[in-house]
Amino acid sequence: MEKKRKISIIGSTGSIGTQALEVIEKLQNKFEIIALAGGHNKELLEKQSQKFKPKYTVLGEEGLDRICNDKENDIILVACSGKIGLKPTLKAIENGIDIALANKETLVMAGDIVMASAKKHGVKIIPVDSEHCAIHQCIKDINQVDKLIITASGGPFLHKTVEEMKNATVKEALAHPRWNMGRKITVDSATLMNKGLEIIEAHHLFGFDYDDIDVVVHPQSIVHSAIEYKDGSVIAQLGLPSMHIPIQYAITYPERYEGIKSKSFSFAEIARLDFEKPDYEKFPTVKLAYKAGKIGGTATACLNAANEEAVFAFLDGKIKLYEIYEITRKIFDEHKVIQNPTIDEIFEVDRKIREKTKNYIKEFNPV
Ligand code: MG
Repeated sequence: MEKKRKISIIGSTGSIGTQALEVIEKLQNKFEIIALAGGHNKELLEKQSQKFKPKYTVLGEEGLDRICNDKENDIILVACSGKIGLKPTLKAIENGIDIALANKETLVMAGDIVMASAKKHGVKIIPVDSEHCAIHQCIKDINQVDKLIITASGGPFLHKTVEEMKNATVKEALAHPRWNMGRKITVDSATLMNKGLEIIEAHHLFGFDYDDIDVVVHPQSIVHSAIEYKDGSVIAQLGLPSMHIPIQYAITYPERYEGIKSKSFSFAEIARLDFEKPDYEKFPTVKLAYKAGKIGGTATACLNAANEEAVFAFLDGKIKLYEIYEITRKIFDEHKVIQNPTIDEIFEVDRKIREKTKNYIKEFNPV
């Protein structure tokens, strides 16, 4: 009998985590769940535990060490959002456990450290994010690839005016036309900062210079990203916009199964695919992310922390959508970058930048 893959999920109660369990449910004979870790939703974690019968569950950050030190795991899906994903991922890598990575902060905050450690320990990092998963699927011989082309849906404000975007409500920002995701990432998709963070992730995952990573707006979200080979040949990965597909790819790699597939892909049904240049005047976040990436060191951790705090303030009704960029930009410009930081220095920058951003927002809008 085929050996079951032993898996744990960090962030099982979140958007990616619950969809991962839907994938695993369809592939029950392929997986054995070692542990499920949830953030706050105790009730859902208990339900998942009863249904999927993991060896153990963990609630909150404290128990994550146990999972990452548990060498019984073949693979850990890091599906939580936020910086709490970083330390457990590094620990699991040190223990030689492969990672299916959905957590953005891991690479944005500490991509150099994480990728160097993965190389040292012979650990595979399989991206779950649809764009990076697409590139991962396209690349056969990375040395022959000239350029990565990351697609962006453009979010809910793609064809709105800057004025409309400036006055957008939380509800409008959360109404993403293609993807159903968590609140923070949905706001990042509305400002396009999500694309900026993905450029930084792509740089680390695939080792490409920032000048060789392009962004193209593709509102239908059918082409999930592409690569261009030296000879001008372009390979793209297509599929219906469902996170189930990249999640399944990442946790079953290199095998493929029918699993979650619900219907066959039809070009005729889709009928058309549109592409356009990103409007960097309207979405300056992407340029800022390129800048942070090129500077390197703690610049990307700073960008991430300032942006996240500003997004939270927007979700709390404290600032306007456009002010997310303005605040992030200001905090970023004042940051004194540390090159080749240690992991502790990165966390310290993260802590300080968050504090600074929160204080700035308080002064900025003292209600
Ligand atoms: Mg994505």
